[in-house]
Amino acid sequence: MPSNSSPEPGWARAAFTLPRAPDGADAVYLAGNSLGAQPHAARAALLSAVDEQWARVGVAGWEDCGWWATPQRLGDRVGALVGAAPGQVVVGDSTSVQLFGLLIAAARLRPDRRVLLSDAGHFPTDRYLATSVARLSGLTLRTTSPDAMAPDADTAVVAVPAVDFRTGERWDLAAIVERAHAAGAVVVADLSHAVGVMPVELDALGVDLAVGCTYKYLNGGPGAPAFAYVATRHHEVLDPPLTGWTGHADPFGMTEAWTPAPGVGRLRVGTPPMLSMLALEGALSVFDDVDSPDLAGVRAASLALGHAFLEALPAGADVVTPREHERRGGHVAVRVRDADGMCAALARRGVVVDARPPDLLRFGFAAPYVTLDDARTAARELAALR
Ligand SMILES: *Cc1c(COP(=O)(O)O)cnc(C)c1O
Repeated sequence: MPSNSSPEPGWARAAFTLPRAPDGADAVYLAGNSLGAQPHAARAALLSAVDEQWARVGVAGWEDCGWWATPQRLGDRVGALVGAAPGQVVVGDSTSVQLFGLLIAAARLRPDRRVLLSDAGHFPTDRYLATSVARLSGLTLRTTSPDAMAPDADTAVVAVPAVDFRTGERWDLAAIVERAHAAGAVVVADLSHAVGVMPVELDALGVDLAVGCTYKYLNGGPGAPAFAYVATRHHEVLDPPLTGWTGHADPFGMTEAWTPAPGVGRLRVGTPPMLSMLALEGALSVFDDVDSPDLAGVRAASLALGHAFLEALPAGADVVTPREHERRGGHVAVRVRDADGMCAALARRGVVVDARPPDLLRFGFAAPYVTLDDARTAARELAALR
């Protein structure tokens, strides 16, 4: 597929192995917002890491196979997908761990302020960690909807998602950053439901710190390591709480005290999970092969899928996701009576989605491997169950 700005949805389907439906055929896989499908390139990279690198190179792999440099090497590749110039992103621990480190570090950038402002509907781990970080940092946690946030002179940190994990609503990150900065607060954005499905312009928007998953729309595999972004202007003052040895300026000096590595490298904690990292590196080729469309094209294809799905739904379907393209992310959520039961019934019909309490079904439109037929089939099967 030649590079252009509006690829046909499903253009890279042949590069993936899709989960099986009960009849043995490929499923209509609309759970890529939860766990992306498997790119062949991720499998190949993982097999090579196991059979050639670990087995045959052993400990020398840290240098000879480039393992040691992987967190930043992959960081730059992921950074290119979120509008970050090189040297500002590191890949390593889970989103939860990265978020913990960044929220504390953000609070430490504004030591004289007392409030941590967070999205009331944030993903549970983001809410639980904000609660703990507020306690540890002596902050008061206030929660509200991102579009209703009113940071003031006492606000240290504003923590928001780019897209609501439940409803699929896309927030106006530019406006949020502008309000936060006008009040002197630091913004920590969670890009888990945005990275790989739409362009995000971290540098241009002036976002301070960000985290995101790589096992959703980046297809890195179950538990793939997350990424953390720190804008260059904060590098030399960033004071992370997890002072692990691999974030040391001289990790093999084995010195008494922790001296932070220059730049974003100080966010490294322990030994990177190489097998997961290398699988992710393979998976990223879906996005940065010379033949891949740019992210505006990926976004257009995902919106086209969502549109086809919405058009094919029966009248009266209770769609909670905003219909305007500007205001939705990569998935569409539909309110139903028995979400778990319907999710299971759809799976029996070969349509894989997920359910979120209390009453939502989420249909994820990962454009590289989902086709317009898939989107319409899902709507038809949902209608048949109602
Ligand atoms: C998926 C997701 C997470 C997941 O966190 P893990 O530590 O990877 O389990 C966190 N935050 C948001 C907003 C998410 O969508």
